[in-house]
This record gives sequence, structure tokens and C-alpha cells, in this order.
Amino acid sequence: MIENSSSLILIQVICVLCIAATVAWTIMVVPMRVAPSASWRFALANFSILLGMLLYIQRTDEPSYLHWLVADNIILIGFCFLRWGAQRLYHLKSSHRFDLMILLVTITLMLLVKPQTSSSAYLMIILSCSAATFFFMLAKDHYVAFKANFTAFATYWLVIPILIIGLMFLTRAFILMAYPDNVATYAAFNTKESIPILWTYIFLILMVNILIIGNTINRLVVKIMTLANKDTLTGLWNRNALQNKLDIEHERWLRDRVSYSVILIDLDHFKQVNDQFGHAAGDEVLKAAAKQLSSITRKIDYLCRFGGEEFVLVLSLTDEEKAFKVAEKLQQTLAEIKINWNGAVIETQASIGCVTISEDIAAEDLLQHADKAMYHAKASGRNCIKSANSTKAQTYSI
Ligand code: GH3
Ligand code: MG
Ligand code: MG
Repeated sequence: MIENSSSLILIQVICVLCIAATVAWTIMVVPMRVAPSASWRFALANFSILLGMLLYIQRTDEPSYLHWLVADNIILIGFCFLRWGAQRLYHLKSSHRFDLMILLVTITLMLLVKPQTSSSAYLMIILSCSAATFFFMLAKDHYVAFKANFTAFATYWLVIPILIIGLMFLTRAFILMAYPDNVATYAAFNTKESIPILWTYIFLILMVNILIIGNTINRLVVKIMTLANKDTLTGLWNRNALQNKLDIEHERWLRDRVSYSVILIDLDHFKQVNDQFGHAAGDEVLKAAAKQLSSITRKIDYLCRFGGEEFVLVLSLTDEEKAFKVAEKLQQTLAEIKINWNGAVIETQASIGCVTISEDIAAEDLLQHADKAMYHAKASGRNCIKSANSTKAQTYSI
């Protein structure tokens, strides 16, 4: 029971924070639909912590499984939901099995003693160790998710607050092991001595929620940016994203004279595929073409769907001669496409225009030059490659 009025106020603050966070995350699920599968887990995390706290403060000297065992484990389940929400948010592998195993071990160890005040140091050590494990694992999940998208500096700063929470729980476990009589200060909720620990819980709930809200918004922004720059049918970059890449390559050319090339690929007689087999068959050809083209491009190259049945490949660090070779490979790889469609086999081929940056070609005209070369290839009978660079204008035919 609560003996101290300051403790009571702080406990009320904790409950209000948990209720507000539960409501906020529920609003994220319905009606906002912001990362709903992660958000409902975060709502449940806050709700579980609230429920655990409400049971926790009902403790008396009487033994009670509900107020000790259930209260502690509902809070731990809340920490599990935090982890499962983060895993949903970052598309990480689920750790349900591992987490449920930790919970099972925790419950088993807690069942070894009577659920009452005289066992509180032991029970708090078990709770703190499990909580520390969950927060260390949560920090690991964030590290794995962030290191792919952020600099090392940003990653550490985003992961460190979660590690600090884990360390707080671990420190509490060690202090309780060393000084089991200090339960009132480090573990209890209901006395004057427990005020610092209540402030720690307020800090914990605020920090965790601020962190996950920040991460969810960040995830949303990354998703929107990706959607704005990706072609939905093929998964390639779209025309929006292309200009940015061309600007970067051109800056490098201006600074270091490192040449780059652009290849424009236009599928031949594509309209006939749609007319003969239907739009869905046309879409399959586009997807297959995107897959084939991607399979032979390097990581530093940039393949985008320029429009309908046209693709543009930006080749970093590539001169005219190498660009021709790549264009040949592209032509060969497209020729390998064979799509079985209602008993018929659909094949495809392309007319290809290449251009390499040079002193005579302005950056803003580069695509136009590639386009002209591609039309030259069409005019020359299709299924061939033409270069816009006058010095080595060549034609390749398969
Ligand atoms: P050419 O050899 O001269 O390039 O002839 P073409 O038929 O390939 O070119 P044209 O420009 O006449 O036709 C392009 C067609 O591509 C027309 C359009 O309906 C089709 N198309 C554009 N976008 C899509 C798409 O997303 N899916 C499908 N299935 N067809 C598309
Ligand atoms: Mg076209
Ligand atoms: Mg075409």
C-alpha cells in the first residue's frame, strides 16, 4: 500500500504517461494507420506496463501471486511487446521464442519463493535481470536496423539510450544482490525512499516512447521517400530519382574528370505484346526485363524505369568503350527472356542508345543524346546499339 504522498503523485504520473502513450499508439493504429502492426504492439507495451504498475501498488504484506508474480511478468510482457513492435517496424526476424523462453525461466525462478515482501529482494533481482536482458536485446535489434541506414555515430547515439535502460536494470540487480536490505530504495514503489526509482520509471517510459515515436516517424519518412523514388511495378528507381544520380556523377566528372555513361534501353514493338497477349502479359515482360537488367548491373550503377517500356542505366566510372560492352551484355540478357503465357512464349528485344560524358556534351543534354542514339538504333532496324559520341559511333547487332 502507498505510505507516502509524493510516491502516490509520482505513481499517478506514471499511470497518466502510460495511458497517454497507450492512447497515442492506438490512434496511430486506427485511424492514422501509421505502421499499424508495430504501433499496436507499442500500445500493448504501454498498456501492459500500466497494468503491471496498477497491480504492483496493491502489494501488502500478505502473500499474493497476482500482486507479485503476475504484476512483474505483465511488465516484462510489456518490454517484450516493445521488442516485437521494433522488430515489426524494422522488418527484423521475430524473437518470440527466445523472449517467451526468458519469460518462462523468469516465472519458474519466481515460483521458487513465496510471493510476499520477505522475498522482494530475490524477486526484484530476477525481474531486473530479465528486464535488462530484454533491453539489451532491444538495443541489439536497433543496432542491426540502424547500422544499414545511419552513420556509425548516429547509430550509437540512437542505441545508447536503450543500453542505458538495460544497464539501469542490471545495476539495480547487482545493488540488490550486494545490499538485499535496501529493497525500499531500489525496488519498492510505496515509500519515501522509493521516490528516486519512481523518477527513473518516469524517465524510462518517456525516453522509450520518445525514441520509438522518433523511429516510427523516421521509418515513415524513409518509406515515403522510397515510394517517391521507386517504380511500383518493377521495383527499380523511377525518373524522379534519376536526376539526383546524374547530378552526383556530373559533379564527380567536373571535379576529377572521371567519365560516366548513360544507356537508354527501349523495348522493341512492346505495344504488340499488350495488343496480342494483354496488359498483364506486358507487365510481366517489364518485370522480367527489369530483373534481367538488374542481374548484370554493378552495385554502383543506377538502373531506373524511365517511362513505359524504357529503362535508363547510369554507369559510374565508365568510358565509351566499356559502356558499349555493357550495352551488349544488356542486349544479350534481354534476349534470354522467355515468358510462358497461356501456352505461348513471349520474347523481347531492345534498341539501345549510349552516351558518355565528354567536353562536347552538356549534362542537361545527356539524356537527349541517349534518346537520339536510341532512335537512331530504331531507325537502323531495331535490336541494336548506337552511340551518341561521334568519335566511336558503332553499331552492334546480334
Ligand atoms: P517501338 O519498337 O517503336 O519502341 O514500339 P513500341 O510498341 O515498343 O513503342 P510504343 O511507344 O508504340 O508503345 C509503348 C507501349 O508501352 C504503349 C503502352 O501501352 C505500353 N506501356 C507503357 N507503360 C506500360 C505498363 O506499365 N504496362 C504495360 N503492360 N504496358 C505499358
Ligand atoms: Mg518507348
Ligand atoms: Mg518501345
